[in-house]
Amino acid sequence: MKHLLWCALFFLLCPRLQAQQSFNPEVRVWLTRWRNVPLHITGESSWRATGAGESCDIPASETVIVERDAMLLTLRFGSKTLRAEEWTLEAEAPLTLSSAQGNDRRSYRGKLVLRLHKGRLQVLNVLPLEDYLRGVVPLEMPPGFPTEALRAQAIAARSWTVRNRHKHEADGADVCDGIHCQVYGGVTAERESTTLAIQNTAGLILVNGDTPVDGVYTADCGGQSVVGVADRDESGKDYCAANPGHHWSLGYTFLEVWQTAEEKDSAQDAPKGEVDVQIAQTDASGRVVMLRIRWGEQTREVSGARLRSRLSLPSTLFSVRLDQGNTIVFEGCGSGHGNGLCQWGAAGRARAGQKAEDILQAYYPGARVAPLSEAMWEWRRVQKQNSAR
Ligand SMILES: [Zn+2]
Ligand SMILES: [Zn+2]
Repeated sequence: MKHLLWCALFFLLCPRLQAQQSFNPEVRVWLTRWRNVPLHITGESSWRATGAGESCDIPASETVIVERDAMLLTLRFGSKTLRAEEWTLEAEAPLTLSSAQGNDRRSYRGKLVLRLHKGRLQVLNVLPLEDYLRGVVPLEMPPGFPTEALRAQAIAARSWTVRNRHKHEADGADVCDGIHCQVYGGVTAERESTTLAIQNTAGLILVNGDTPVDGVYTADCGGQSVVGVADRDESGKDYCAANPGHHWSLGYTFLEVWQTAEEKDSAQDAPKGEVDVQIAQTDASGRVVMLRIRWGEQTREVSGARLRSRLSLPSTLFSVRLDQGNTIVFEGCGSGHGNGLCQWGAAGRARAGQKAEDILQAYYPGARVAPLSEAMWEWRRVQKQNSAR
């Protein structure tokens, strides 16, 4: 009788479970950190390498060494050497890649594809979107952040992937594993808190109508995001104020700042006379678009973006002042480009009781959370087809 009840319950619940199963397409991640041979591969269980139309089963105990032989890639283990232009590696358990010296070591879920691209080794990790995110979110947000902030981050990272997966079309991939796209570290990077946040938001992305939203995120918006979101609570306190680097101050000599406005650093042509520095232009959020510096008769203009990269300023949300006649002091707020989800702000909002959905709606005005569909995943391709017509 008990058995029957369990069976009935199972059949009652099953269709519901299936309906909730999210669309989980495969992502091709270019593992840019593995571009050198020899490369060592091991598996936690036995695994299979397929190349040039043939498959070979490799026991878990073996270390396979990948090397290059002209236009082919060789896999060498024991007394065997296999050659092919491209290898597909499949395993039940994660595969571990390491450099010949063994100092760099990472494990990956899903399939690995090895081939030569632009004259160098290219390793692609082909795995379901949800598994990919498990290796991204803990590297993009501190795993100790509050649960609702981690959930918001998971949805933002998922949306970003859907929207930006054309970035490496020319490389035969969707995204890369570096800061150019989203930092991805495979199983090695996974943490329990972030994995839970991904599972609890499985398949959910941000959309505007039917269009996936570019889920960009920034460490700390400085209290004012680029799109004009005032990141403050009712008392006027910045939600991102808990960031230890929320307020910052950095000084540079006048000459150092003067030289950022030049393509080539040319200290010898430093003019003489009085110096002055002023913000010439800001955007609607108060970020510096253009800085004007005057030295004697000469005036130079330098963009906020250039100053940020050349002087390693945390953000372009700053004011300037001259100190003791030869130092320019930048006093700023926030860290990062200031666009989209503010990560420290999301943590602050979560601590104030906001849910992931509220947090996302604050940072992406007009967007809503919706399940990822096949059409959304193919959004870019459909766009292209439409524009070709
Ligand atoms: Zn990239
Ligand atoms: Zn913020």
